[in-house]
Amino acid sequence: MTDDLVLIVEDIRVMAKLLESTISDLGAVITAESGAEALKVAADKQPSLILLDVVLPDIDGFEICRRLKANEATKHIPIIIITGLHTETEDETSAFALGAVDYIRKPFERSIVRARVKTQLELVRGRRELEAANKELAYLAAVDPLTKCFNRRYFMNAAEGEIARMKRHSTELTVAIIDIDRFKMVNDRFGHEAGDRALATVAEICEHSLRREDTLGRLGGEEFGILLPATDQQGANEVLQRLKSRISHQVSLVEGESVSLTVSIGMTDVSEDDDSFDQALRRADKALYTAKKLGRNRIVYEPSVPAELPPSTFPMHDPREIDFG
Ligand code: GH3
Ligand code: MG
Ligand code: MG
Ligand code: MG
Repeated sequence: MTDDLVLIVEDIRVMAKLLESTISDLGAVITAESGAEALKVAADKQPSLILLDVVLPDIDGFEICRRLKANEATKHIPIIIITGLHTETEDETSAFALGAVDYIRKPFERSIVRARVKTQLELVRGRRELEAANKELAYLAAVDPLTKCFNRRYFMNAAEGEIARMKRHSTELTVAIIDIDRFKMVNDRFGHEAGDRALATVAEICEHSLRREDTLGRLGGEEFGILLPATDQQGANEVLQRLKSRISHQVSLVEGESVSLTVSIGMTDVSEDDDSFDQALRRADKALYTAKKLGRNRIVYEPSVPAELPPSTFPMHDPREIDFG
């Protein structure tokens, strides 16, 4: 017995019972006695397969087949038409044209019905496994195995999507790069495995500090990218500041030994004038570099349109720097 469910649509009770006993060891069976009931049960119960009688008290089986195939919720369910009346070749042809996968004439040979149902259920199972495998592949292609956040490739793709959305709706988009400070020392002192755990923890804290519509990706090594759609400099700063302080307060690395990590963050607004996302990312990277140079554990903002600054004040009193370190 499998977890497959077969819907038998048949108005004559003894015929329904006969069909049921024929296939009952192949899966669970539910029955419907009219067309209207069949349409409802198919949508609600999502059976793996439908055995469909043609002559029914309300709606004709061919019409039911057409409606099931026209409905998003039921179009994927295979239908075997079983009929005693419509035995002409044209009827059989039109059944297939309507989307039925098989056509059985009454009176039927029970072993043949069984074999055909079994074949269809195996096909359904194969399709299901393929869908699950595709889903798994899509997941593996998008997610970084260590931190479980998106990988660089997914992040870059998402960025292109966000830029398009930003232009369409004329909203703001902020991008940030987060780099763990002196991470090499963590590895050297506690070992690579502890370093790995710390990376995963940092990613988790980032994920929990962001909104659903934000995107976090591991750009490589101990560096993460964040996309903050519909977020201006001030809003982004609040989010990143919270994230930065959570990381420095929460990360504990090895059992019994807790080490506080800090991060440096470079951020910028993505501008309509940017030729590509890479250009904005380079700007965020430049801001990150400045954050490191200024002593780490801080956020630096690099605007897409550089502020007019008297050269003498740069970089020591750069008003573009937001320092919460
Ligand atoms: P800075 O503050 O300038 O960023 O110093 P840093 O030590 O963090 O930077 P550096 O680029 O010198 O070293 C990055 C370190 O990150 C070195 C590398 O071993 C470590 N790292 C990169 N990827 C991984 C990883 O997947 N697991 C572990 N455990 N360490 C990693
Ligand atoms: Mg009938
Ligand atoms: Mg680093
Ligand atoms: Mg780095």
